[in-house]
Amino acid sequence: MRSCDVAVIGSGVFGAWIAYWLTKEGRRVALVDAYGAASSRASSGGETRILRLSYGADELYTRMAMRSLELWGEFIGRTGQALFRRTGALVAAAAGDAGLRASREALAGVGAPHEELSAGELRRRFPQMRFDGEVEALLEPMSGALMARRLTHEVAEAARRAGAEPVRELVEPPEGERRLDAVKTASGGRMSAEIFVFACGPWLKKVFPRLLGDRIFPTRQEVFFFGAPAGDARFGAAQMPVWLDRTDERLAYGVPDIEQRGLKVAFDAHGAEFDPDSGERLVSAGAAGEAREYVARRFPALCGAPLVESRVCQYENTSNGDFVLDRHPELENVWIAGGGSGHGFKHGPAVGEYVADLIAGRGEREPRFALAAKRAARERSVY
Ligand SMILES: Cc1cc2nc3c(=O)[nH]c(=O)nc-3n(C[C@H](O)[C@H](O)[C@H](O)COP(=O)(O)OP(=O)(O)OC[C@H]3O[C@@H](n4cnc5c(N)ncnc54)[C@H](O)[C@@H]3O)c2cc1C
Repeated sequence: MRSCDVAVIGSGVFGAWIAYWLTKEGRRVALVDAYGAASSRASSGGETRILRLSYGADELYTRMAMRSLELWGEFIGRTGQALFRRTGALVAAAAGDAGLRASREALAGVGAPHEELSAGELRRRFPQMRFDGEVEALLEPMSGALMARRLTHEVAEAARRAGAEPVRELVEPPEGERRLDAVKTASGGRMSAEIFVFACGPWLKKVFPRLLGDRIFPTRQEVFFFGAPAGDARFGAAQMPVWLDRTDERLAYGVPDIEQRGLKVAFDAHGAEFDPDSGERLVSAGAAGEAREYVARRFPALCGAPLVESRVCQYENTSNGDFVLDRHPELENVWIAGGGSGHGFKHGPAVGEYVADLIAGRGEREPRFALAAKRAARERSVY
């Protein structure tokens, strides 16, 4: 039987950062994952994820994103690799949009650098994008795109170098009363630990069906990459920011062409329910058509551009989009970390820090991350 101080189950961005911080504290950690870190099935397995600070009036996530921006910067600096592209993050909206105004006020309130762009300024700065009508925008100069899959590997690898043991096993749903002594694995093994952290992303409802079966909602999300014309660098990271388009009711967002993968476009609207183990990852023709139509409108020079790549991933939503970072209500040595809800990647470092503090009995508890705050009815309020 394997044994350690802390078994972290799930080597996505949340689990990898939790393991990293715990090993730094000198704990013996096992970092367990059924498919390995940031696999094609995991939510952290995408090539890029946006790091932005704007969350409307929601200062909690703005402050967390700022803390993570700092921690990602320190971590990435040590890797010596280009794993963050500081493209800036553009949030565009109809003139007078309340959400944009709230973001502006929140950024100003926490001292986050940002610029306000008028419609004219927006067109002058980013002529490759076309916004018709009365629009305005804000630009966060320090934000950009994280190279998500590779970063998750780097964090898991840094945890390994600091002493964490990577384990490739499927952990079975835990059984116990008051305390968990060990978990079983699908290969017939057992793993004992003083503390267990389940950072299983969209799988959390399978691991805790009774507790989370109606509290975590994995939804199918489709992502499209369009190829720029040969020799045309206007859609690359040197000339374009990551962007969120609030003028589109589906809430479009995207990432410039990084490492020649194509201009990434997706919609933040939740898709159908999705099984992360068995779900097929083929995009639908209907959604590809919608993305194509959007790209032709917003980026006229890409009208007719070929789809060069596509992905199907899943969000692991909570009822309102708040994370769940809390102790199991019945098992005193079990912690749950997840509910990234389509916006969690950027927060990986701060989530890891928060959970490591919780486990050590340090820091303040954020009521919004409590399991008890999660509802069965879906009413999204965090964007
Ligand atoms: C299309 C898309 C776009 C997104 N865009 C952004 C963005 O721009 N910015 C942003 O900040 N966030 C974004 N997100 C959200 C972000 O990617 C997720 O919130 C984050 O990656 C979740 O990480 P996680 O570690 O909780 O889960 P995961 O990465 O899914 O990791 C969970 C891990 O647990 C393992 N596991 C599960 N069950 C078991 C078990 N029983 N035994 C062993 N291992 C197990 C799995 O194999 C998996 O590796 C996006 C998500 C998607 C899908």
